[in-house]
Amino acid sequence: MNRVEIDGDRCKACGLCIDACNKHLLTLSSDLNAKGYHPIEIHDVEECSACALCGVICPEGSLAVYKEIKPKKGG
Ligand code: SF4
Ligand code: SF4
Repeated sequence: MNRVEIDGDRCKACGLCIDACNKHLLTLSSDLNAKGYHPIEIHDVEECSACALCGVICPEGSLAVYKEIKPKKGG
């Protein structure tokens, strides 16, 4: 499965990644991080296409996107 790793303590809750995700998988948590912001969380991660737009747009470098590599058949 694709994966988005979130460094919640770097997030400043700017919301840029929320707008960037065309699958609407990112929301602000109700929890507070160490800086006093509501950090990003991901839901329905199985829907993530690993497009990486969220990671590219984040000015804080809070998001790392990993795409699952499926082994080739017959190899
Ligand atoms: S990698 Fe793409 S689909 Fe996945 S959460 Fe980020 S913007 Fe959304
Ligand atoms: S773009 Fe980065 S700093 Fe802004 S809300 Fe998303 S994870 Fe947080």
